[in-house]
Amino acid sequence: MNSFADTDLHDGILDAIKSLGFEKPTPIQAKTIPHLLSSDRDLIASAQTGTGKTAAFGLPAIQLTNVEDKRTQTLVLCPTRELCLQITKDLTNYSKNCKGLSTVAVYGGASIEPQMKSLKKGAQIVVATPGRAKDLINRKKLLLGNVRYVVLDEADEMLSMGFKEDLDAILSETPKKKQTLLFSATMSRESIAITKKYVFFLRNAGYPRNPPLKGTFARGGNFLHL
Ligand code: AMP
Repeated sequence: MNSFADTDLHDGILDAIKSLGFEKPTPIQAKTIPHLLSSDRDLIASAQTGTGKTAAFGLPAIQLTNVEDKRTQTLVLCPTRELCLQITKDLTNYSKNCKGLSTVAVYGGASIEPQMKSLKKGAQIVVATPGRAKDLINRKKLLLGNVRYVVLDEADEMLSMGFKEDLDAILSETPKKKQTLLFSATMSRESIAITKKYVFFLRNAGYPRNPPLKGTFARGGNFLHL
């Protein structure tokens, strides 16, 4: 795919990314955007920072948001405050023509009150670090019962930073029926083994201990190794 116009992204999004100077999709965008716009299968992708992965998961998530519904529909989990703010800034730029769409960042190391206020106003997309997300769930300020997309960004980092229990607690608040997108810089067999718990197709395909690092699984789900 050579052009964003070849995707089904709508004009408001195309205009926004054009004004940011995006001329053509990066390889991961060319693969993930059509998949996410047309399929509800989970996706696991190996992607380093700088490959355009934020737009890869963000543009479809923005397009598929129901702006009439103020409840949280997309939850993006990432390991650090810096990444949380960067993703939120990027998604806000990509959705600048999408009236009624709100993206809110919640992260530790900052006062929780303004974050609770922002959530109360309604945030269809929430970008969160795991510890703060769990805190807000416990306070009943972050409600995930209507989430349709969960993005685990830098999943390997989150796991190596010891967020596994928080991830378990957070994901248990999300509906069973949802699409999970997992991005990881490293895609070792070990990290696949750990993350398979979170990804439907891996969990349900009963896939072997040594999955191939490339290709598509036979029984559902796409595995992109870029
Ligand atoms: P990311 O990997 O999402 O952190 O993106 C890395 C950088 O590439 C960011 O500054 C994006 O704004 C930029 N970027 C993402 N997609 C494209 C694209 N298709 N064309 C040009 N720049 C892009």
